[in-house]
Formats: sequence, structure tokens, C-alpha cells
Amino acid sequence: MEFGWSEEDRRYRRELIAFVEEALPETWSELSADGPGSDAQAEFSYEFAGKLAERGWLTQHWPSEYGGGDATAWRHIVLSEEMWARGEPRGPQYMNVNWIGPTIMQYGTEEQKAHHLPLISSGQVLWCQGFSEPEAGSDLVALRTLALRDGDDYVVNGSKIWTSYANNAQYCFLLVRTDPESQRHRGISVLLMPMDLPGIEVREIPAVVGDRYFHEVFLTDVRVPIGCLLGPEHEGWSIVSYALQYERVGAPRYARAAKTLDEIAEHARERGLLDDLRIQERLGEARALCEAARVLTYRVVDQRAHGLPPTPDSNVARVAGTRADRAIAELALQVHGADALEYGGFADKNFRMAMTAGVAVGTTEIQLGLIASRALGLPKG
Ligand SMILES: Cc1cc2nc3c(=O)[nH]c(=O)nc-3n(C[C@H](O)[C@H](O)[C@H](O)COP(=O)(O)OP(=O)(O)OC[C@H]3O[C@@H](n4cnc5c(N)ncnc54)[C@H](O)[C@@H]3O)c2cc1C
Repeated sequence: MEFGWSEEDRRYRRELIAFVEEALPETWSELSADGPGSDAQAEFSYEFAGKLAERGWLTQHWPSEYGGGDATAWRHIVLSEEMWARGEPRGPQYMNVNWIGPTIMQYGTEEQKAHHLPLISSGQVLWCQGFSEPEAGSDLVALRTLALRDGDDYVVNGSKIWTSYANNAQYCFLLVRTDPESQRHRGISVLLMPMDLPGIEVREIPAVVGDRYFHEVFLTDVRVPIGCLLGPEHEGWSIVSYALQYERVGAPRYARAAKTLDEIAEHARERGLLDDLRIQERLGEARALCEAARVLTYRVVDQRAHGLPPTPDSNVARVAGTRADRAIAELALQVHGADALEYGGFADKNFRMAMTAGVAVGTTEIQLGLIASRALGLPKG
């Protein structure tokens, strides 16, 4: 593969960086300290994503008929890199533009597209994803939340767990079992559920990554109109598989990790550690991991830019991204020494965030299993 940015792409990145530097308030580091799920960041995301939308940058990789700019997937990865490197000022809306919008575009009815896509492309809506359940995480097809038809509604009962952003979301991309007799991959459907329906209760789960990060969502006799069904009834597994391929490379963790690495190197210099060959070696290794993750992600972007269907390369890119994140967080502990013990300090915060990297969107073990079976053709263990 030969790769090089065009002059237009470079100019776009420069303009984007200049815009972000002006648009982020001086208080951004405090505002973003609790991650994209905090109330403050969710609120700020409307203002910030709105400004990106005004410039045509929020969904520029979407077709113009859906509020996009017909740009290639490359423009979107430039945007995502610069956002992640700065603590994701789009807040939870990064999910909307990465995979919720494209999945609605692929499977939605004209009515669903007309309702949801303009809200997303103007930066005025927050979503959450209701996949995991207490007994269905890695083994997602064990999900038990039931949605049974009753007249013009589905009546939904069950619960979801680890739901990021549920506290501020207006909609949930909800995975349910619509055929109570079904098992595993069959009989699953997707509902685009408004979060203000009676019977939905959101409870926060305290977490090491920060407050307002994880939630449980309890669903008791929630009547979801049948118009909220995405794609064919009982065929939701193929929809969610499609969505996950987008989600896995949606957040370029390597961009944030590379920026963190710069700060670690600067700290090592200030502390006079750069003469230590072991530190030099680890800095070099960490940089190589970031670059590997970047190039592997670009391979997936290239496939998208050519309109090719998703492949296990997205699993490979995901594993590379989480490895870079972990390695850099561990290096920060080493370089910061005793200061790393300070709760909420640079090294501590990075480490806690990186711990979750290999869990979200399918754990590293699950990703490796998928690579083994789908990419290498090895028998399932
Ligand atoms: C930051 C973050 C954000 C998240 N946001 C959301 C969200 O918004 N919505 C949502 O629905 N979920 C969300 N999750 C949940 C996430 O998808 C699950 O935590 C993940 O799928 C793992 O499921 P589990 O926690 O039940 O662990 P388990 O599935 O119980 O796994 C426990 C351990 O067993 C290992 N394991 C399990 N099965 C296998 C296997 N077959 N082969 C090898 N090892 C295996 C796992 O790798 C893991 O180490 C989020 C998680 C994190 C960390």
C-alpha cells in the first residue's frame, strides 16, 4: 500500500486544528476531565458539534442527501484523530457519526432516515447503545431483554448494563429478542428507542474511569412503537455485526495515545530520564505501537474509501489500538514514578482509562478469537 495525504487533506487538518484551538474554552482540560459521558461534556457537545456541522465537517463523509458532504472516509479519520487527541469535544456524539448514523442509513426506512439523520448531522442529538446485559457481554447473543408485539407497539422488559451516555441520551440503539422461542443469533432485533418513554429507568454505576460513565438501564413494560424497529424483525444480528465493524475503529485511540506519549517524553526529559536506555527503548516501542495502530486503522479506512465490505482487519486495528493505549499508560506509570500514585493525576488517570480499552466493543480476547477464526481460518476453541 502506498499512502500519502493530499495537499487538500493537509490543509483541512490545519484548518480543523486552528478551529478546535479557538472553539475549545480555556477551561477545556477541567471540562473534559471526566470523559465524554459527563453532564458538562454532553452539554458542551451540542455547541461544539453544532459548530462542526455549520462548517460541514461533522458528517462530511456522509452522502449529501443525508446531510453529508460526499467526502471520503479519509476526511472522517482526520476529524476523529484530532478529536480523540483533544479529549473528544464531540462528547458522546462521536458514536452517532461513526456508526449509528451509517447503520440507520444502511437499514433504516425513509421515515427513520428523515427523522434521525438530520438530527445527527446537525450535532443536536445524543445516543447510547443498549447491547450488554448482566449475563450477555462477550457472549452478546445470550441477551434476554424481550420485546413482544402488542398492537402497534413492542412491549420491552429486561435490563442493559455498562450503557455509556445513557444519562444524557435521547435515543438508545437497543438490542432485543423479539422471538421468545429463539436462541443465540436468531430472533434478535434492533429498536431505535426514545429514552423518554415511560418504564425506562437509568441508574449510574460508579466506575474507576470516572463518574457518569456507566449505567444500568432497566426496562419495565416499555411500549416502543413498531415504527422504531430498524431493519427486518428477528434479523438484528446482521445489523449489529455491521454496526460493530464501524464502531471498532471509530475511536482512534492511537491519536490520544501518541499525544500522551509526547507528554510522557517531555516529563522524562524534565526529570533527566532520557539518558536511561531502558526509558528510551520503551518510548521507542510505544511510538512504534501507535504507528502500527495508525497504519492498521488506515487499512480499514482505505477499504471503506473503496466501498469494500468490512473485514476482520477492523478487529486487528482494534487490538493494535488498545495495545498502544495500554503500553503508553504503563510507561506513564514508570516515568512518573511515585507521582503516579496521585489520584486523578496524569499517570493515574491515563492508566484507569487504558484499562477499559481492551474491554469496550468486545474484549481483546474476543477480538483475538475473531481474528483467529475469521482472518486466519483457525478452528474455534
Ligand atoms: C469503557 C466501556 C464502555 C462500554 N460501553 C458500553 C455501552 O455503551 N453499551 C454496551 O452495551 N456495553 C458497553 N460496554 C460493555 C462491554 O461491551 C462489555 O464489558 C464487554 O463486551 C465484555 O463483557 P463483560 O463485561 O460481560 O465481560 P465477560 O463477557 O464476562 O468477560 C469476562 C472475561 O472473560 C473473557 N472471555 C469471555 N468470553 C471469552 C471467550 N469466548 N474467549 C476468550 N475469553 C473470553 C473476556 O475477555 C473477559 O476477560 C462498555 C465497556 C467499557 C469498558
